Amino acid sequence: MQQTIPRKITIVGGGTAGWMSASLLHHAWGHLGCEVLVIDSIDIPKIGVGEGSTPALKRFFETLNIEESEWMPACNATYKCGISFPSWTTHSANNHYFHPFYSDVDLKTGKAFIHNTDLRRQGVNIDAHPDHYWLQSFLAKEYRSPKSDAKLNGTMEYGYHFDSALLGEYLKTRAKKLGVLHASDTVEQINTDQNNNITQLITQSGNIVTSELFVDCTGFSSLLIGKTLAATYHSYSDGLLNDSAIAIASSIDRSMPIPPYTESAALSAGWAWRIPLSSRYGNGYVYSSKHISPEKAEAELREHIGPTCKDMPAKHISMRLGRVEKHWHKNVLAVGLSQGFIEPLEATALMSVQFTLEEFIQHYSLDNLSQQNSFNSKINTMLDSIKDYIQAHYFLNTRNDNQYWIDVRNEQACSSKLRQIIAAWDQPLADMEEILTATDSKRAYLTPSWYCLLAGKARFNQQVADISDDKRVVNLDNIKRYFNIVTQHFPLHKHRN
Ligand SMILES: Cc1cc2nc3c(=O)[nH]c(=O)nc-3n(C[C@H](O)[C@H](O)[C@H](O)COP(=O)(O)OP(=O)(O)OC[C@H]3O[C@@H](n4cnc5c(N)ncnc54)[C@H](O)[C@@H]3O)c2cc1C
Repeated sequence: MQQTIPRKITIVGGGTAGWMSASLLHHAWGHLGCEVLVIDSIDIPKIGVGEGSTPALKRFFETLNIEESEWMPACNATYKCGISFPSWTTHSANNHYFHPFYSDVDLKTGKAFIHNTDLRRQGVNIDAHPDHYWLQSFLAKEYRSPKSDAKLNGTMEYGYHFDSALLGEYLKTRAKKLGVLHASDTVEQINTDQNNNITQLITQSGNIVTSELFVDCTGFSSLLIGKTLAATYHSYSDGLLNDSAIAIASSIDRSMPIPPYTESAALSAGWAWRIPLSSRYGNGYVYSSKHISPEKAEAELREHIGPTCKDMPAKHISMRLGRVEKHWHKNVLAVGLSQGFIEPLEATALMSVQFTLEEFIQHYSLDNLSQQNSFNSKINTMLDSIKDYIQAHYFLNTRNDNQYWIDVRNEQACSSKLRQIIAAWDQPLADMEEILTATDSKRAYLTPSWYCLLAGKARFNQQVADISDDKRVVNLDNIKRYFNIVTQHFPLHKHRN
């Protein structure tokens, strides 16, 4: 079948989403004669946060043939084994758990985790804490890098932490070198035809820009898809109460190994991230403005970080949570904050940017407009399932120390899919794999992640039977011994000199 490609693409917005779009679209179609132009305003600021990734970003760089040795030092990047979640519950043994990135090396122990956790759901007294079954939890605890110096059976998945401004700059410089066109200008007027397709952009400097396809990367302002095409917006604010964030940097001790994980600690009205870069920590508080004022939130965050953030400025951010119904509508594709946003608890935004672009390239190549419905429905399912996964963190909390933690446990605000998943988990013999498949909930998070979340938050019947002679249980001592040997093949995660 012949491949359809656009002859000219104009991207409005030069944040991370804009330059990721330029990089992938140019990679896919530049060599076939497609021209890519990025128009970016120096007068309208970028969001300026977003420093953690999932393993998808590794694939992004692999697709573009960019080596870690090239981009990581340029972006002050470090490795990430997963996310640690302290203080989300009141159970003494599960006051903390780790959501690891898992790989081929975890196949056996991961199976054991699911098996033992299912027995725990049935009331067998067995340790089903996720931290004891996954390699990257062990690496994180010992501040080891997920990059092994030995030959492993299979590939290792991991994510990154990076300076988002530097990542944008890096991608911009590279894309321009490869032939992506760039105009520093502000789009002031947008003209459409009688079918509501965009025909022209008129910029501050008087340029008139025409294009076959326009990509909206204008951030929360959603200038093309939202303001111009008036795409229907589906809000997530009923289920996700956090609508604000504060970001504050703090210093990092370069003589110590770098924690290879993000910490997402529950505070009084939200949670605080702590992201180690090679140059500093990025910290922030994502909170509900209905439950705490910005001033009090800033004071709480500063106390949580400690003296290393003294005199560092705070950046206050408002967040709009939700998504458009049509990410590709008429001749516009929306990518990044313009298409929607789910709060950053699992650092999924750039992964969604990447999935959107990869799906778009595939769908557009097939047969342009007839593919729009299928594309939009795929992206919506992905975003809704990420939203459910994030919301489950809140729903499963057991804190009562603040009205916020009670309000975020509202079952009525959960989607019917999420309610079905939790109801199945609570039935000892229900097959979780089956329910996750039936609810189409594995688009972003696979079964192990759902198990880590539910077991990590200790969603178990507290009544248990003794195990002394239960032959079904996989012995944890063997798993611990195995990891104690394997972790030695991973070096400490240190600063480069
Ligand atoms: C608190 C918080 C924490 C986050 N943490 C993470 C994380 O850990 N991991 C993750 O993956 N994501 C995270 N994100 C999301 C991440 O920041 C964004 O997805 C990412 O930065 C992409 O943003 P963007 O490019 O869509 O928008 P922006 O960075 O806001 O860029 C918009 C661009 O559009 C331009 N523009 C706007 N209007 C015009 C116009 N009229 N003419 C020309 N140009 C225009 C602006 O100048 C700017 O360059 C977080 C977000 C928030 C709010």
